Amino acid sequence: MEKYQGQPICDGIAIGKAFLYFRETGVPKRTQVTDLPAELERLNKAKAMAERQLMSLREKALLELGKEQAQVFESHAMILNDAEYFRSIADLVRTESVNAEFAVMQASNEYAAFFDSMGDPFLAERGADVADVSDRLIACLRSENASCAIPSILSHKDPSSGKCILCADDLSPSEALSIEPGQVAAILLAHGSSTSHAAILAKSKGIPAILGLGPEFLTLLRKHAENEEGNAPLLIVDGKAAEVFLDPSEEMLSAYQEKQKAQEEKLRSLQALKSKESITADGTKVLIFANAGTIEEVKAAASAGADGIGLFRSEFLFFQRKALPTEEEQFQAYRAALECMNGRQVIIRTLDVGADKKLPYLELEKENNPALGLRAIRLCLTRPALFRAQLRALYRASHYGNLSILFPMITSAREVRQILSLCSEVRAELQAECVPHNAQVPLGIMIETPAAALLSDELAPLVDFFSVGTNDLTQYTLAMDRQSANLEPFRDPSQEAILRLIRIAADNARKQGIPVGVCGELAADPSFTKTFLQMGIRELSVASPRILQLREAVQGVDLRG
Ligand code: PEP
Ligand code: MG
Repeated sequence: MEKYQGQPICDGIAIGKAFLYFRETGVPKRTQVTDLPAELERLNKAKAMAERQLMSLREKALLELGKEQAQVFESHAMILNDAEYFRSIADLVRTESVNAEFAVMQASNEYAAFFDSMGDPFLAERGADVADVSDRLIACLRSENASCAIPSILSHKDPSSGKCILCADDLSPSEALSIEPGQVAAILLAHGSSTSHAAILAKSKGIPAILGLGPEFLTLLRKHAENEEGNAPLLIVDGKAAEVFLDPSEEMLSAYQEKQKAQEEKLRSLQALKSKESITADGTKVLIFANAGTIEEVKAAASAGADGIGLFRSEFLFFQRKALPTEEEQFQAYRAALECMNGRQVIIRTLDVGADKKLPYLELEKENNPALGLRAIRLCLTRPALFRAQLRALYRASHYGNLSILFPMITSAREVRQILSLCSEVRAELQAECVPHNAQVPLGIMIETPAAALLSDELAPLVDFFSVGTNDLTQYTLAMDRQSANLEPFRDPSQEAILRLIRIAADNARKQGIPVGVCGELAADPSFTKTFLQMGIRELSVASPRILQLREAVQGVDLRG
């Protein structure tokens, strides 16, 4: 038995056979062709197939992730249909009498070299896109199954073998999209980041997932498969503890099977709480909100029984694009989220990028410590046009639902005053343009830096609510990189330092008479529910699959005792 430790992404117990996914990286060999018309016909057929795949992926992304993510596949289809790109491949086949696979690779390398030579990161990314499209075209040329709409990364899996534990280095958007939850019991990645599509999908679909297991984990699985003549090893995944057990003992297996049964039973029984309110034993009403980043997650939150959206991470609308979304695109997205929640409160946070959340098209200067750099509100305040477009979109959307706006990474009253003055300019602008909007939209700030907690007496009179982001508050208070899997042993499970800061903010919020919620990961931990409620916190915001569990925890709290 071997044990591996990673970073938790989505909890839950899963037991199953490992399914190793490695991208096909074989470089196409050059072969001489004699029947050129037949080779060009193969190329045309592969192009049509790649186009069908991209259109299917686009549709799937639209349904599951939203318009912005779907654009990746649209732009890939544009490259595929670019006359010059395709002509350069066909010309190579014709003039050098080479096989189509080799011609695609050759053309793709030439494009990549050309874009690279421009020394512009944006163009270098275009080279990467061309490479992605070329890989797809080569895969289609190699494929014998011309009717396959979306190539599933599980296509080599025996369908009768039940759900597998998908093990990969990392997953691209199209690979993550091809995952059907009915086939996958858990996702284990050697690398990956918490903002990757795999992580987003795993969380929103409730698939247990662990990232950062390290490349040696995959090497071990591969070796195991070789020794066992292709027989995949059995794995136990404990998503919450971010632990993976390879080749578990009989004893361990039956212990985890019991845990798994109990987990399934629990999930079934929790369904009864879906339409119930979250009220403590002493009658205190609590709101359980959901965190979301896409319209699909908002829909999932609505059907999972969320009282509202406590944190809409607007930055997800900005990922997987080549340029900033326009004011109109943002307006449509925010409006859709508000309409979906049908009058329930939706707290949309303004752009929180920088540090681990990178937007290449913003061309930010390289920083030594990006987590302490020009990120979130600091970036917005230094790019007023970007910030103004988002604020205009938000205020315009406010006419269509119950919106609150939340500002991330606040460290001083000066920042808050700057934001408020920009908001008032935007309101005046919309008023002058006769654009309908709610001028009273509540404006709140994240308490996610020790500075914001310590200054909360000064900040509370300036805003309408506080929302505590325990993820960053922990990172900045404990000086611990939240991305690092190596710091786990140093974390204090009692969270004493964090709780003291939250208490300061909650006390100051109460004195000022403004609500305070918690939207970081700690909100989902039932062992802190009573402490939060005792502090006067009445809103907790968590990933949708955690709502009912938290509702049950709230019902078990008695604030009289
Ligand atoms: C937080 O920092 O706790 C938070 C909710 O924001 P994010 O995780 O998006 O940084
Ligand atoms: Mg944060």
